[in-house]
Amino acid sequence: MMYHLPVLKNRRTLLERAEKFVSDVYFTDCNLRGRLYGDSCPLESIGFFLSAKRITFTEASKQSFDPYEVGSTFGPTWWTCWFKVTLKIPESWREKEVHLLWESDGEAMVWRDGQPVQGLTKEGEKTSYILSDCLKDEEPHSLTLFVEMACNGLFGAGQGSMIAAPDPNRKFSVQKAELVTFSRDVRVLLTDFEMLVDIVKELGEEDQRGYQALFTVNEMVNLCDPCDPSSFAKVHNLANTFFSQRNGDSQHTVYAMGHCHIDSAWLWPYEETIRKCGRSWVTVIRLMEKNPEFVFTCSQAQQFEWVKSWYPGLFSSIQQYVKKGQFIPVGGTWVEMDGNLPSGESMVRQFLQGQRFFNKEFGMQCKEFWLPDTFGYSAQLPQIMQGCGISSFLTQKLSWNLVNTFPHNTFFWEGLDGSKVLTHFPPGNSYGMMGKIEDLVNTVKNNKDKGRANHSAVLFGFGDGGGGPTQLMLDRLRLVEDTNGLPKVQMSTPDKLFTQLQADSALLCTWTGELFLEMHNGTYTTQAQIKRGNRQCETLLHDIEIASSLALCHGKAFPYPAEKLQELWRLLLLNQFHDVIPGSCIEMVVEDALKYYEDIRSSGAVLLRKACETLVPNGSSVAVFNSLPWERLEVIQTQDGSDKAGLALVRASSIGVSPVEDTPPVTPVSVTVQADGTVLMENGLLKTVINKNGTLASLYLISANRESVSDGCCGNQFVMFDDVPLYWDAWDVMDYHLQTRKPVVEVVQPVRVVSSGGLRGSVSFTLRISDKSTVTQEIVVDAMCPYIKFNTEVKWAESHKFLKVEFPVRVRSPNATYEIQFGHLQRPTHRNTSWDWARYEVWGHKWADLSEHNFGVSLLNDCKYGYSVHKNTMTLSLLRAPKAPDATADMGTHHFTYAIMPHTGSFQEASVIQCAYNLNFPLRLLQCSPETVPWSAFSVSSQAVILETVKQAEDKGGALVVRLYESFGSSVTATLSTTLPVREAWLCDLLEKQDPSHPLQVTSKGIALDFSPFQIVSLLLIM
Ligand SMILES: [Zn+2]
Repeated sequence: MMYHLPVLKNRRTLLERAEKFVSDVYFTDCNLRGRLYGDSCPLESIGFFLSAKRITFTEASKQSFDPYEVGSTFGPTWWTCWFKVTLKIPESWREKEVHLLWESDGEAMVWRDGQPVQGLTKEGEKTSYILSDCLKDEEPHSLTLFVEMACNGLFGAGQGSMIAAPDPNRKFSVQKAELVTFSRDVRVLLTDFEMLVDIVKELGEEDQRGYQALFTVNEMVNLCDPCDPSSFAKVHNLANTFFSQRNGDSQHTVYAMGHCHIDSAWLWPYEETIRKCGRSWVTVIRLMEKNPEFVFTCSQAQQFEWVKSWYPGLFSSIQQYVKKGQFIPVGGTWVEMDGNLPSGESMVRQFLQGQRFFNKEFGMQCKEFWLPDTFGYSAQLPQIMQGCGISSFLTQKLSWNLVNTFPHNTFFWEGLDGSKVLTHFPPGNSYGMMGKIEDLVNTVKNNKDKGRANHSAVLFGFGDGGGGPTQLMLDRLRLVEDTNGLPKVQMSTPDKLFTQLQADSALLCTWTGELFLEMHNGTYTTQAQIKRGNRQCETLLHDIEIASSLALCHGKAFPYPAEKLQELWRLLLLNQFHDVIPGSCIEMVVEDALKYYEDIRSSGAVLLRKACETLVPNGSSVAVFNSLPWERLEVIQTQDGSDKAGLALVRASSIGVSPVEDTPPVTPVSVTVQADGTVLMENGLLKTVINKNGTLASLYLISANRESVSDGCCGNQFVMFDDVPLYWDAWDVMDYHLQTRKPVVEVVQPVRVVSSGGLRGSVSFTLRISDKSTVTQEIVVDAMCPYIKFNTEVKWAESHKFLKVEFPVRVRSPNATYEIQFGHLQRPTHRNTSWDWARYEVWGHKWADLSEHNFGVSLLNDCKYGYSVHKNTMTLSLLRAPKAPDATADMGTHHFTYAIMPHTGSFQEASVIQCAYNLNFPLRLLQCSPETVPWSAFSVSSQAVILETVKQAEDKGGALVVRLYESFGSSVTATLSTTLPVREAWLCDLLEKQDPSHPLQVTSKGIALDFSPFQIVSLLLIM
């Protein structure tokens, strides 16, 4: 018992002694770590060739390979280097574990017999391809392998820092490529030592269990002779005695799940993500072969779809392990989308495309929504989840809040309409844990629902760039399955976790409303072209689906373009990934994203034209297609067959087609240049005075006799801010930027009249923002229109600046209202508490409103998402100029439109919601015969109810899905009227599953429907 003797009371020396015994830096000549690898042997040959493109294995293997010398460099960034490796394992390595050791600064994939077999990523602790666990004579000793190495690291190729723009000319190399023998016994002991050392450190000086670990590990050093493997068993037994001392019944249980967060594009392009998935997931399969208890959770149908088409062999292995319940698709969405910016319908489609894919490929649907890494979560998500077969939710991102600590880890999240989902934030505050003691201790320590929830998730595996779990992580977790003083650890599934949490949920708290992330608030504005692409393509797909549905009912011969629409939707959904639509990606990704929007626009234009052509007989007249469910009276630009473009005031019936017949306005617009150079414009509803510098001196609501612009202030005031965050450049706009406000005042071209009235009055002007940037704007007052439009062009070449526009209004209210998905919510305009002022920059969709009783002002937009309303100033965020990770972000020319709308009554009564839709969904012109008569396919009796979507049902060719929502926040009964030949109507969920218990009455008046506040209702209409 020489190892078990009294020791001096010097915790530090004992601890450090044990650390040095397993250090890979110090004393490796005599410590245990130095014995991990045994003999080594060079490869027989390494050949290489470089490819600018990402090519297939078949193509690569046919190339001629030049000799490669380990250590020599190649590149540049984003190229691929293929290696052909021949190797011969020495006979003398019989019974040894043999690895191909490969260290390169690019991520790599090993190919064997034409199949991908193993990912290799240094940053992800994957540098070994195991050739044999225990070399037998009959195993092949001579092999040819291929290694496909990407010229990018786990996090791309940032120049100087991770999120800096990539260095396009980086050189790469392979630092190590050799055969080695590996001692599994040493690895097992090293894990014992490392875990004990970590227990000592993590439990600290107050915990007696930590001292037991300290003395155990010290005695293990006493007993262990690194040169004498026969000493190992006794050492391992000592560790085992410690680890097998069990917990009591009450101990917290950690449900461990393998995970690998792969951003669908971020600091690398979409195409590289496909290979990241391949590398990460093939490694997971290798681990599953050896660890039958290993469970791996994997989100994003799009990534599965990529792997299916690029690595079909790997995909069928995945299908087998899905069947076994080890490889678990989670989340139910097409990608892990941004939780704020996509429209309500886009969010539905994320689930529709995702769940249908999982159903088709794996015969299952996800029961949990999975969004660990997104920058805030809309209050409408609980209802959308519930409508898509999902009742629980996992994320952890709110642990990034800069100001307030979110008070729960396990709780019910209640959405806008009252829908609830069981929600879990893994208390370890990470989706990429390592299975270390630190992760387990933090999980228990940070849990804010102690005594309420006794189970937590631990998601382990390298993420962000991919990589995933390692054997070492699995070994660590297995070692402490039930060790007194540490939480119990079970390999588990999301379903088990949530079932357990639900079963024991009586004491859980409820959080109502949005999960606002107090960080990354610049992402509502960064990369304005992506935001615009998203809004315009959402609008376009909406219109195509409606027009195609009408065409389908009009003439049964019309081929509904279901396949093409799915393809376009999937492109749009892909770009909603949580580093693309927020604008936090590199330039290459922006280029891809903008190209996808172009594809949607060009293919979409063809689809829309084809559908519209079937709606009206062709001819030389002009009609408009209105995709919105209310009648509109609007001034539009018409082309009458000649080159001359004119204006017309058009009455358009709800969801339908109307011939353009110019209706004379009740009151024409008048435009008067006043003596002081200001311009007065008036349309009978509004009267505005525009200063020479383009600001509004007055905006008067005639019916209410009320001025909207605050005393002594001007509306439409452009303002610039310094915008230098602490680190996350494209992501963050910090609170202190508000202190750097500077109005844009330099006039280049003062206000001049462009349209002199009648149907339209307009003026334009140009301001200098700086010596590099200008803004030119046309302010438009249309006849009969209750809002003033600001058509804006900005030439933008700034660096770390933020451009906004302000409207100080004569309204006093403690709350402002913002449109979100299928509804709206309120946020404070004051800064009482830390929760209030942390929302100094917020997101909204098409409109925001500030109202007091019986009067208010709304701010509408056609492609912006960032707002703030402080006191009585309404601000729309327009453009940012971050330099990382895209050094060219937002440079160039931008076009966007916003509008200001004073109103009486509430915004609901004033049709603000409808006006914001009108601004975003232009009436579309089509050619028609002069005999065309107006017709409408759908209308809704209540203004509170918006018919958002009409599409062909996914599984029923002759049926339409119609989606409506209550937009006012009220309980109403509404009648949906249609001129289409509807035979039957059924309620269905958001995945279009019919509810057989609820046939709906179709009467001559239509279909009567009940709504609760913000309720989404989907119908299946059988024709
Ligand atoms: Zn992410």
